[in-house]
Amino acid sequence: MINPQVFRQYDIRGIVDEDLNEESYYLIGKGFGTYLRRRGLSTIALGGDARLSTPALKKAFIQGALETGCNISDIGIVATPVLYYAIWKLGTDGGAMVTASHNPSQYNGCKLNLGLGSVYAEELQNVLKIIQAGEFATGRGELACLNIDEDYIGYIVSGIKLERPVQVIVDGGNGMGGPYLPEILRRLDCEVIEMYCEPDGTFPNHHPDPTIEKYMADLSRAVVAAEYELGIGLDGDGDRIGVVDEKGRMLVGDQILNILARDYLAQNPGKTIIADVKCSKNLYDDIRKRGGIPMMYKTGHANIKMKMKEEGVEFAGEMSGHVFLADRYLGFDDAIYVSARFIEIVSKTKAPVSSYLADQPKMYNTPEIHIKCADDRKFEVVAQVCNEFKTEGYDVNDIDGARITFSDGWGLVRASNTTPVLVTRYEAESEARMNEIRELVEGKINKYL
Ligand SMILES: [Zn+2]
Repeated sequence: MINPQVFRQYDIRGIVDEDLNEESYYLIGKGFGTYLRRRGLSTIALGGDARLSTPALKKAFIQGALETGCNISDIGIVATPVLYYAIWKLGTDGGAMVTASHNPSQYNGCKLNLGLGSVYAEELQNVLKIIQAGEFATGRGELACLNIDEDYIGYIVSGIKLERPVQVIVDGGNGMGGPYLPEILRRLDCEVIEMYCEPDGTFPNHHPDPTIEKYMADLSRAVVAAEYELGIGLDGDGDRIGVVDEKGRMLVGDQILNILARDYLAQNPGKTIIADVKCSKNLYDDIRKRGGIPMMYKTGHANIKMKMKEEGVEFAGEMSGHVFLADRYLGFDDAIYVSARFIEIVSKTKAPVSSYLADQPKMYNTPEIHIKCADDRKFEVVAQVCNEFKTEGYDVNDIDGARITFSDGWGLVRASNTTPVLVTRYEAESEARMNEIRELVEGKINKYL
């Protein structure tokens, strides 16, 4: 049987041989194949990342899915956005990507897609239910192996126009973005230095997570030493971006979004931009100031992709480095493409990257602070805190937990969808005020913990 714990909110993930093995992937293949067949669908694009466990697990998935009568296009070892691209390009009904994103090497997992949308939350649970019931569709599907890399690279290169060559260092984190981004940038005539761009599933240099400062430290030093214009870091499967400026300072997710948003609004006046609840007030204010309409939405790449489609929005992003562009692109979170768009912006000016947001008011904010809270308690605690703030007349946005807005700052508390923690973040115009807001919110959290 299968360990139900590995079916999380947005994807399947666990430690190989402890939580997940070939038998599990065989069942996931059968379950997902059946899920598609019950909808009258039958084609799957399949990819996997460079983890050492991936080839065997992928093979087991293929066997299971073929036995349900689904046809599989196996595009090999790729970045997650290349799999999304294949779903679009080949027009397959579904997609499956064997990956554990930025998790350490002993992990693996699987992201499932229905068209370009994620199979997540209840729908992912439905796949689990099919497996638990053991009632699988039967048939004999066909397997085709193909390489779509050149097609993908060519598609991105043809959509980007640089006004001058840019000097950039790419840190692939030994993940799956490395084989793509430097090649794309060289074809765009950039000067590129590669760091850790060979995929290596043991991640010998650092965890491939470009939102964590310590994992960006090598890149920061390299950019300063080479006197280059910027550095770009990618996560393990290439769907999240991190940036450091020419001074080696890391831009956080909402700053990357802010720079992209200014460019987008200059070309597309008055448009709506979606950002998640963790993002800075500066981002929302700036979108408004430039004539755009900011829409605050729930954290989670699958939620955001769905909301974009529902609202017909072309640009969205998250603090976590997932950025979604349907403007001139296909709408999914592709950090390789987003990197190229960022560099297109850099090419439009000679000003240093560190100056782009220099006109923004100085805000003091915390990173995400996690407070341990059991899975069966966390949503209740957040609801109680939210309710108390509302009762006391505060300005509360409850789209995802509670974001309490003050005239000079805000505080956020939400339940993580993936781990037993409450996620909090605070921001204000002064450090003292930030700490005050933090104390106020934490005081209420502690009452209900
Ligand atoms: Zn990822």
